[in-house]
Amino acid sequence: MKKILIDMDDTLLEDCYIEVVNHYLKTHYTYKDCDGYWVDNLVPQEQLKEYLQYFYNQIDIYTFGHVKENAIEVIRNLSKQYEIFICSAYIDSRDLENCSKILLYKHKWLTKNLPFVNPENFIFTNRKDLIPVDVIIDDKLKNLASGKTKLLMNAYHNQNISEQELASQKIIRVHNWKEIEHLLLEN
Ligand SMILES: [Mg+2]
Repeated sequence: MKKILIDMDDTLLEDCYIEVVNHYLKTHYTYKDCDGYWVDNLVPQEQLKEYLQYFYNQIDIYTFGHVKENAIEVIRNLSKQYEIFICSAYIDSRDLENCSKILLYKHKWLTKNLPFVNPENFIFTNRKDLIPVDVIIDDKLKNLASGKTKLLMNAYHNQNISEQELASQKIIRVHNWKEIEHLLLEN
């Protein structure tokens, strides 16, 4: 069976991080206000330490945001033809002491929402580039390196990557889960 590695944040789920920032700061920021990948750059530098304390100790990130439309249904369909692996990073060099607490919430969300995926196939690492698989689906370019088929989930922070650049790396930009289903499933 071919193997698919699927990212969580901004691939399977969306808006979790920006909703936490807005909840914490009592703001209404949108992705237009974000400069680059890190949504929490919206938090003023002098409040960052306190914010990270809140983020890792007081909330479950996955009670914010939502699952992307059709994601679960499509992964369920894919699981009939592919072995599904979920891969998510958790190391935050800004707060190494506390960042592993997010693993509990990642594990909890996955076991609850993807009960048809073998929990032994949950992989938590920042080094996704070291895992060779048939298909990788991720919103971050560098995480696609070790996939034979590389699908870049369209996201606020990857808009500036040209289609030419993606083509030169044999990367296909996808916009939603129905598109992924169409690309990967033989009907
Ligand atoms: Mg991601």
